[in-house]
Amino acid sequence: MNTSHIQLSRSALRNNLNYIRERLPDSVTLSTVCKGNAYGHGIEQIVSMSEAEGVRHFSVFSSAEARQVQNSITRNSTIMIMGYIHNDELAWAIESGIEFYIFEAERLHAAIATAKKTGKKAIIHIEVETGMNRTGFEEESLPELFEILKEQQDYLEFKGLTTHYAGAESIANYLRVQQQIKKYGELYELFCSHNLKPAIRHTACSAAAINFPETIMDLVRVGIMTYGFWPNEETFIYQLRKSEKFGKDPLRRVIRWKSEIMSVKNVKMGEFVGYGTSYQAPRDMVIATIPVGYAYGFARSLSNLGRVLIRGQRLPVIGIVNMNLAIIDVNEMPDVQKGEEVVLVGKQGQQEISVASFSEMSNQLNYELLTRIPPDITREVVE
Ligand SMILES: *Cc1c(COP(=O)(O)O)cnc(C)c1O
Repeated sequence: MNTSHIQLSRSALRNNLNYIRERLPDSVTLSTVCKGNAYGHGIEQIVSMSEAEGVRHFSVFSSAEARQVQNSITRNSTIMIMGYIHNDELAWAIESGIEFYIFEAERLHAAIATAKKTGKKAIIHIEVETGMNRTGFEEESLPELFEILKEQQDYLEFKGLTTHYAGAESIANYLRVQQQIKKYGELYELFCSHNLKPAIRHTACSAAAINFPETIMDLVRVGIMTYGFWPNEETFIYQLRKSEKFGKDPLRRVIRWKSEIMSVKNVKMGEFVGYGTSYQAPRDMVIATIPVGYAYGFARSLSNLGRVLIRGQRLPVIGIVNMNLAIIDVNEMPDVQKGEEVVLVGKQGQQEISVASFSEMSNQLNYELLTRIPPDITREVVE
């Protein structure tokens, strides 16, 4: 039995998918990014709910995640690996028609060799370096790549030309992203001028699709917004300012992660609470303990910073988050009872723990905190 519980809202997911689709021309494919166990939500549940809402394209980082998606799909959906695929997994990927990124010559040679053995074409997306300086073919290496792509056409299907932006969520990176967009355009032309026109072009993640609509192209790879979180506060505010319904968040959190109060205690003024001296009671106070700590995905960086919801009110985490538990200041509601519901992420009453409290308070990204939620917590799909 877990000490916390997750609910996933089908209607919230539908709302978010519709919101994203409304921003895309009809011809654009929406790929739901479900790496990192679907941003902590659970691949199996997210894939099957998304398919029911019409999504037919899923992007993951690794071949292990691709297998999980493969086991969860029931329609003819496309799976694309954007990151790491071990050579031992290539044969399986090619045989299963799973598409994957190629970011350097060595991967390409391995893919060709495996395709020859399996007798099926490898469906590849060429990743080009445009300025993120992470993975991708350098411009200097392209002449060699062009030759291989032409010579080995019988073994390769050149499906996509791709890149990734180095922080499209923040205006601080505006110039760098603009340069990347320009570079990508030039490289695309270069491929075309060598008679190597990819079937599709794709570069946008959530933030790029919102902040730089010209990056939308033929397919978008949307992760965080699918789950109802914004890439950061800046993108949220930018989007709100453009919409008529000022002030209302158009996205809805899909996840509701909750636990319950384990114990309630009184502490005297001046006493330290929990390990060490990071929190000293400023008055006689009532505290409550919850059975979630960093071993269960409630990050240590939420120490003295995080917020949880009890009885629809936002209450602070005090002291250091322990391995298995965290302490909450419940002085405002001293009659709370053991067993009462505590919401760690998501809605309770009119309040919601979302971007502003669960993550940005601790200067971490939603991405990191979400993906830390353990995969073995029971996930229940609700309407
Ligand atoms: C994670 C990832 C995405 C999705 O990013 P979001 O900000 O969650 O939309 C898109 N493309 C690549 C290559 C990624 O790694």
